[in-house]
Amino acid sequence: MAEHNLDLGLVVEGLSAWYGEAKALDGVCLRVGAGEVVTLVGRNGAGKTTLLRALMGLHRQQQGVVRFDGVDLTRLPVHRRARAGLGWVPDDRGIYATLTVEENLLLAPITGARGWSMERIYDTFGVLAQRRAALGTTLSGGEQQMLAIARVLRTGARVLLLDEPTEGLAPVIVQRIGEIIRLVADDGVAVLLVEQNVRFASTVAHRHYLLAQGRVVEHLANTEFKERREELFAYLGM
Ligand code: ATP
Repeated sequence: MAEHNLDLGLVVEGLSAWYGEAKALDGVCLRVGAGEVVTLVGRNGAGKTTLLRALMGLHRQQQGVVRFDGVDLTRLPVHRRARAGLGWVPDDRGIYATLTVEENLLLAPITGARGWSMERIYDTFGVLAQRRAALGTTLSGGEQQMLAIARVLRTGARVLLLDEPTEGLAPVIVQRIGEIIRLVADDGVAVLLVEQNVRFASTVAHRHYLLAQGRVVEHLANTEFKERREELFAYLGM
């Protein structure tokens, strides 16, 4: 496994978030180094989506510190966090249904110098090259997920926040998404992946955080995560 520089990348300290009076995140601390893939695992309602949204600055009621490459993002609005390198792929994938694949890609604002060219995207995502003129409405779930990831890479994001990218997809597509995640991390991007599929998580990630009722309750290296896979299956109700 490659060495990871933990000074670079995403650092989260004491992150709490509320919906009105209800606390959804309670003092979450985590880090994702440049080139690392880290998963966030937890039951439904544990706070995973809220955490990604809070990192992007999409959740207003929050407290705590978010830094990327040493830069404090805590007080920045969404577009400034995106410009600082954070990229989010929501669980609904956010594809514009009435635009083509290519239009969806071209619409992404390029915020960083490391933004992927269209050529690189089409080389890596063969299915998007084939479907470049297809409308968003006609894409399969796997194609939508690929497009959503490619669109963020085009912006030049250096942190990729993925919310359940494999949900509902066929095994062959899940495998391809795993290959792409590793490729992106090898390029130095920090990847934080919300994932319910424990088997998939163990094939792509270096480390794992287990979230329960808005708190990080375990932090596991992948070897330990694999050893405890059956226990985690049971815990997650899979
Ligand atoms: P899932 O996998 O089901 O999406 P999750 O781990 O992503 O679960 P969140 O969606 O972040 O969990 O929810 C965390 C907590 O916040 C839950 O108790 C949930 O009921 C609550 N919550 C989420 N969205 C809202 C909302 N819009 N208004 C009020 N409470 C909410």
